Amino acid sequence: MNMKEDRPMHLKAYRYRIYPNKQQEGYLSKVFGCVRFVWNKMLDEKMNARNETGHIPQITPAQYKEEYPWLYEVDSLALSNAQLHLEKAFRNHFSNPKRFEKPSFKKKRYEQSFTTNSVNGNIKIDFDEGTIKIPKLDMPIKVKFHRKFEGHVKSIIVRKKPSGRYYVSILVHENIEPLKPVYSACGIDVGIKDFTTITQGNGIDKKRLHIPNPKYLEKTEKMLKKLQRQLDRKAHPRRKGDKTKKSKNYIKYAKRVAKLHERITDQRMDFLHKLSYVVIHENQVIVAEDLNVEGMLKNHHLAKAISSVSWSKFIDMLKYKADWYGREFIKEDRFFASTQNCSICGYKNPLLKDLSVREWTCPVCGTHHDRDENSSDNGYEIGLTHLKQLVGQELPEFTPVEKSSVDDRAAMHPKSTSSLKQEATTSTSGR
Ligand SMILES: [Zn+2]
Repeated sequence: MNMKEDRPMHLKAYRYRIYPNKQQEGYLSKVFGCVRFVWNKMLDEKMNARNETGHIPQITPAQYKEEYPWLYEVDSLALSNAQLHLEKAFRNHFSNPKRFEKPSFKKKRYEQSFTTNSVNGNIKIDFDEGTIKIPKLDMPIKVKFHRKFEGHVKSIIVRKKPSGRYYVSILVHENIEPLKPVYSACGIDVGIKDFTTITQGNGIDKKRLHIPNPKYLEKTEKMLKKLQRQLDRKAHPRRKGDKTKKSKNYIKYAKRVAKLHERITDQRMDFLHKLSYVVIHENQVIVAEDLNVEGMLKNHHLAKAISSVSWSKFIDMLKYKADWYGREFIKEDRFFASTQNCSICGYKNPLLKDLSVREWTCPVCGTHHDRDENSSDNGYEIGLTHLKQLVGQELPEFTPVEKSSVDDRAAMHPKSTSSLKQEATTSTSGR
């Protein structure tokens, strides 16, 4: 691997489904069990010590090995990662208790996982054979590699989902080529009606994109609701005395619900990855609202809660992809309240605090606004100002204005053809 030193390295995660055989499944479940055991035991001892002495002691899994020799049978790095994760969970909790809950005991019925690091070639990936070799297992596990990567593996996370499926996330040190500079900026708004509204352009040409929530997601979410109802009925057997033991039917339906949950998560992530890539690819400067996600999550409306989770993931992706590809990401100050200012004359409309006001006419300049468009227009103006400054600093030479449309997007990122064409609707300044 040739590494260019002038470029920073980035960490990128690749996730694949893996297919362990029976014996490998046995080993994996042993590691999951040991990691869970070590986590719970350390947590218990830490909490007890804290109650007695006020201090949280440092504990290492090695301390348990004599008493519980079966811990020797699994990858010791997986155990030390459990220690690191627990220490981090405590640190996070103490620094921001509102955001991070106190670490809790791990239970078998949730997703199970362990992390291990790549040292001295203990992890081997073979794209041709479609396998990954992990520590302590002689025989490599079958992997479905839907894409390849280049770079050094830093660590891997092995997961077993409640549906019974196994996945591996491979964290890779990668040398990412920055994209060619492009003379375009955009402002992005969280939609209430749509997933997001984007205003994008170069100061002369401007266009607005309304990106709805993907249709297929709505469909799977409906399926999930139906299945969930069926499951709930199975969970309440009419006959008495049957409360403790779950019926075979119940287990069957619970697995189906879990599978569908995982499918929805996958589809959402896929949608967010494609959309964020397109935005980063087409714009040099990206401005997004600093959204109060915590506040939004308190919203009891489930659908909105889900989309606000997606929104914060989307913003995270824009941030790190901007960093990878040499773009500028600007998060607008929450108090800038761009949603409430007229994008033409700057008049601040106090009535817009009420989220139900979807359209309004500016009393000063008379412009009629769509709420979301006005907000993304404001972000766009901030982006343009910044873009001009970049040029003023004689930063990299910009490529000529690229005219982009939804179809171009598909061409540039072939995988996204069907989904983006279906999901994105273009609406130009006429609206
Ligand atoms: Zn105005």
